Amino acid sequence: MKKKRNINRHMQGMLAVFICMFAALGGYLTYSMATYGDEWFSTAYNPRISAARNIADAGSIYDRNGILLAHSVGDERRYAEDGDTRRAVSHIVGDVYGKSLGAENYFAKYLYGLDKGILDKLETGGKGADITLTVDAALCRYIYNNMEHHGAVVVMNYQTGEILASVSAPTFDPNTLKEITEEDEEGSEYLNRVTQGRYPPGSTMKILTTAAAIENGVTGFETDCTGSAIIDGQRVTCPTEGGHGHVDLTSAFTRSCNVYYAYLSEELGNANMLNTARQFAYNTAFKFPDFNMLESRFEQPGNDGDLAWAGIGQYTDLVTPMHNMLISAGVANGGVVMQPNTLLDVRYGEDSIYNYAPTQYKSIMDGGTAATLAGFMRDTVESGTATSADIGAAVMNGKTGTAEYVEDGQVKNHSWFVGYADPAHPLAIAVILEGAGFGSAHATPLAGQVIEKAVELGY
Ligand SMILES: [Zn+2]
Repeated sequence: MKKKRNINRHMQGMLAVFICMFAALGGYLTYSMATYGDEWFSTAYNPRISAARNIADAGSIYDRNGILLAHSVGDERRYAEDGDTRRAVSHIVGDVYGKSLGAENYFAKYLYGLDKGILDKLETGGKGADITLTVDAALCRYIYNNMEHHGAVVVMNYQTGEILASVSAPTFDPNTLKEITEEDEEGSEYLNRVTQGRYPPGSTMKILTTAAAIENGVTGFETDCTGSAIIDGQRVTCPTEGGHGHVDLTSAFTRSCNVYYAYLSEELGNANMLNTARQFAYNTAFKFPDFNMLESRFEQPGNDGDLAWAGIGQYTDLVTPMHNMLISAGVANGGVVMQPNTLLDVRYGEDSIYNYAPTQYKSIMDGGTAATLAGFMRDTVESGTATSADIGAAVMNGKTGTAEYVEDGQVKNHSWFVGYADPAHPLAIAVILEGAGFGSAHATPLAGQVIEKAVELGY
């Protein structure tokens, strides 16, 4: 009798040890999920996701209007029925192999029900959640059909942060993808240029340089542009024959005078430029909950010649199209940038477990600076370099950019436009077309057409 009791006590002791071990393991898992959850789930090759990729039970992905973008048919994952739509949203939706990171990876925890406990799973029969994205597939398809060059277009509601369109070209067809093999060549079509493509900002950088001038009280500077200037041994030129003549801050911005901005950058100095760049979230790791995005780069120029080039966006600095759009969104929204989001809602059957709520990301300038820049950007569309973005459907504000780069020994130009429409249609946009030529001739008219289409669709 006594012996049995001892055994029982021994067993109880062992049980307590096991309970403690399980509690510790559970606690560790809970801790690591809470701390690293989002990054952990975003990893394409996360073994748990791969193991849990029971495709037959995965939820569906819809656009904001209920258009089906991805769903499972038996063990097979199928994407949007319309071929152009499928290609247009290929980067935002992603694929199950993780060749291109999109909703399929970032939101795998919902699609595969990994956010549910075992008891909840029994209740829902192991099915994953259906998710709705913020994008409008029709707007994405329109953009895809009108992009004549490789590049990126992104449109966001600057009051709420909802991404309405995000298109990267070239695209791919997720319906014909095969699992990655060792011999597989990673093609540039899988790169989402909106968040992973980094480009020289060209003259879109003059928004930042102008903000630095306003915030440091260097607004009264005037000069005569003869078409070129030598700054610290480096020659800066304007593409306009004979130059822009007498220019002040307003006319230099709307006509995009490089000579003026080269001198202005020298006036401002290194520290002020770097300070405004940091305020604009250059050299900052973006930690957005819905997607990964590369950091933009602003390097401390080594001398006044480099500083002049930095001020006109042709130094070593690089920006993603998404980040450049967010800067315009900040100007539009009184200096405050809303957090960009792509996930609208998550549902297990009728049970909604997530609904998007607008969140502020960062104040990048004060309201007065934003108002002054807004006026300059309006003038640029009304009578400056961006008149081809002037549309009937909305009042547009913007800035063009022509970013030089060298490819195969030849100087080529990326064509940029960043801007936004009036608050009746709170849309911010960035367009970059690789190697297309002048910003005013390619990216700018496309931006106008895209906003016109967005207004027609009710935004
Ligand atoms: Zn000039």
